[in-house]
Amino acid sequence: MAKTVDRMDQIVSLCKRRGFVFQSSEIYGGLGSCWDYGPYGVELKRNLKDFWWKAMTQKRDDVEGLDAAILMHPKVWETSGHVANFTDPMVDCKKCKARFRADQLETARCPEKPSKSPLECGGELTEPRMFNLMFKTFMGPVEDSSAVVYMRPETAQGIYVNFLNVMGPSRQKVPFGIAQIGKAFRNEITPGNFIFRTREFEQMEMQFFIKPSEDDQWFDYWKAERMQFYYDLGINKDKLRYHEHGKDELAHYAKKAFDIEYEFPFGWKELEGIHNRTDFDLSRHTEATGKDLSYFDEKTHEKFIPYIIETSAGCDRTLLVLLVDAYTEEEVKGETRVVLKFSPKIAPVKVAVFPLVNKDGMPELGMKVFHELKEHFKAFYDTSGAVGRRYRRMDEIGTPYCVTIDGQTSQDETVTIRDRDTMEQTRVKIADLVPTIKAKIEG
Ligand code: ATP
Repeated sequence: MAKTVDRMDQIVSLCKRRGFVFQSSEIYGGLGSCWDYGPYGVELKRNLKDFWWKAMTQKRDDVEGLDAAILMHPKVWETSGHVANFTDPMVDCKKCKARFRADQLETARCPEKPSKSPLECGGELTEPRMFNLMFKTFMGPVEDSSAVVYMRPETAQGIYVNFLNVMGPSRQKVPFGIAQIGKAFRNEITPGNFIFRTREFEQMEMQFFIKPSEDDQWFDYWKAERMQFYYDLGINKDKLRYHEHGKDELAHYAKKAFDIEYEFPFGWKELEGIHNRTDFDLSRHTEATGKDLSYFDEKTHEKFIPYIIETSAGCDRTLLVLLVDAYTEEEVKGETRVVLKFSPKIAPVKVAVFPLVNKDGMPELGMKVFHELKEHFKAFYDTSGAVGRRYRRMDEIGTPYCVTIDGQTSQDETVTIRDRDTMEQTRVKIADLVPTIKAKIEG
């Protein structure tokens, strides 16, 4: 247990120290479970989102992109079932006033006696009450119930209500999908574990519209594709597994659901959900609006409401997986080296440039090389401190390649490239740097 806590503490502390993730509004004491991404966090997140977008849209001709508004007509959330069902059963402690999820009492901790659960600490608990997880706000100048709108708790509904808008202009035919990356908000009662469960987060969702009779084959297809995505991201295969939802776990709309789970330092937890949502969503929106969301198959002359296979991944949660999976401590010459061994494809900085010393024309040559590399990669230029310390700083943010300008550079126009993982250095011509690094990144 101590080791588990240590590893998360180490990662949180590295994220703050090196500019990946900070607590929101930190100088005001922070805001519960909201996080800000600093310079390297935002690069890492952007690379992750680009990787997903490329895999889910660019490399395919059967998935289109969308960016729907966060605020939607409030009736959308009545139709989807979120107003009635997006709730957790909650209990309050009459003594310390803390609130807990009724279904997680055994693993929850009493804030006054952290070694005990709320069942053991002696506080009296209220009867469970249902608590809706959607954030509400008001639209327009009057703050009354007719002006209530919700901050979307998932990006999926923006896709369903745009089914016809996307299908027409893109000239797609069923089976096809719509992909979206965007913010979602949930007033989680027991958030925590850093960016694992937060109140504001980003989702990467894809909804695939299919003929109802083909649901099992498409479910299996997407289940395999989505696991492969994490392998391609370079995540340790032994720490990934499927979890099938039992009948008691299935959401009200789902016929079948599998989670992809990762073994975090705090246990196996969901990373992504793959759901067979049947025709629930399009049928409900058809009933509520009177707009026919059925599909006519011109080949078979069948008319049906498409089934939907959903793949729903958390961007922040995947980012935590990338950090946890990459975090490595190694003994090097009697010192501990901390390295984030990200796949070079998603590393926030791809290459750093160091003049070995701050004289003999090395900084000028270094700047020249840096400007050339910047056109192709996210690069970093550093002249401060011993070169060994500069390497260590780059190791801690996961930069896969460091280029050093030394005494030989001005004579034969070569530099060294140091590999983050092996720490080996090779000499290359400056003219070959860009293609060499490109080839290394592409692996
Ligand atoms: P959980 O059981 O962990 O609350 P969920 O089953 O409610 O998750 P979904 O509604 O299926 O999650 O959302 C899809 C994905 O969105 C999740 O697999 C997760 O990666 C991400 N996600 C959901 N809630 C949060 C949150 N509060 N903070 C960060 N990511 C989240």
